[in-house]
Amino acid sequence: MVLCAVVIAEDSVSGQSTSSETTRPVTSMRYRLLGSTQLKVSVIGFGASPLGNVFGDADPEESKRAVRSAIDEGINFFDVSPYYGLTLAEEQLGLALQGCRDRVVLSTKCGRYGSGEFDFSARRVLSSVDESLRRLRTDHVDLLQAHDVEFGDLRQIIEETIPAMRQLQKEGKVRYIGISGYPPRALMRVAGSAPVDTILSYCRYNLLANDLEAELATFAETHGIGLINASPLHMGVLTDQGAPDWHPASPEVYRAAKQAAEFCQLHQANLSEIALRFCFDYPRVATTLVGLATQEQVRRSLRALETPANPELVEQVQSIFAPVFNQFWTSGREENQ
Ligand code: NAD
Repeated sequence: MVLCAVVIAEDSVSGQSTSSETTRPVTSMRYRLLGSTQLKVSVIGFGASPLGNVFGDADPEESKRAVRSAIDEGINFFDVSPYYGLTLAEEQLGLALQGCRDRVVLSTKCGRYGSGEFDFSARRVLSSVDESLRRLRTDHVDLLQAHDVEFGDLRQIIEETIPAMRQLQKEGKVRYIGISGYPPRALMRVAGSAPVDTILSYCRYNLLANDLEAELATFAETHGIGLINASPLHMGVLTDQGAPDWHPASPEVYRAAKQAAEFCQLHQANLSEIALRFCFDYPRVATTLVGLATQEQVRRSLRALETPANPELVEQVQSIFAPVFNQFWTSGREENQ
């Protein structure tokens, strides 16, 4: 059985209690405030989509150990969605967090329920959260995000979805609300009309892309919105095992990643760890969500944070990626690109 060790180096992470007992010191983790919220989140965030078998089968017991060791190491931000594994990831995360819930900042989503299944209606938002709370075995989440807004009617999201999410905030079921998605313009269009506390953007700031920097980062700073960067490994591209078969990038991107991985190996380095460190050091986001399902991946994320950066190697890797840098794919409705 895995027990929940009580380890938090910083002050209260979710506005609740501070640590009473420490099994090992947390020295390396860094924390940043999530925009104007009261949430102080670790620079490494635990992306729980792999718990829903999104990147291949995850062993439930190992997933639980990964969650517990992440908490022991000071990782306090956990992100999930009913969409990941069609509720499986929420179920697994809920089980893994039993006894540790008050040690983490817990975020889930609403609006997306399948690869082509979306419902951003107020009615569905309200029922969705109750279902998520049951699966996550908690009475509230710290953050609720409208999932992949570019697939919805943005007017409905502004006029109906976000007001319903604010209603849930008044009821105490969610502490803060946000939106997530791929095209920065759609995210800014929504957040410019209906104030939100956070924005999650993915595959827009890492070794293969940086257009989050162009407008979204400034937009978030100007509006006091907490910015969450997801997919530092470009959803698996920047790993030795490579991208999953559903990945939307072009073959040239995969070829460049293979070349970069081999180049790093030649220099006794690891592409994934370089890619992670590159994102962890980016100060304009509060946290970077890494998809994690094993203790080894947690350890490697920690190692990436602790190992001194090697700017020369990063530059050489960036030059390998230059021909495919900032290549984007279409996501969502045509009018939301
Ligand atoms: P990612 O870039 O974090 O890559 C995940 C893949 O990399 C998985 O296969 C994982 O097993 C592997 N991996 C993790 N650490 C590794 C390491 N050290 N070495 C080698 N491989 C490693 O992509 P992601 O999982 O898509 O993104 C992270 C999280 O961000 C998600 O789990 C999710 O919580 C969130 N996210 C949200 C949205 C959205 O809301 N629209 C979109 C994408 C991601």
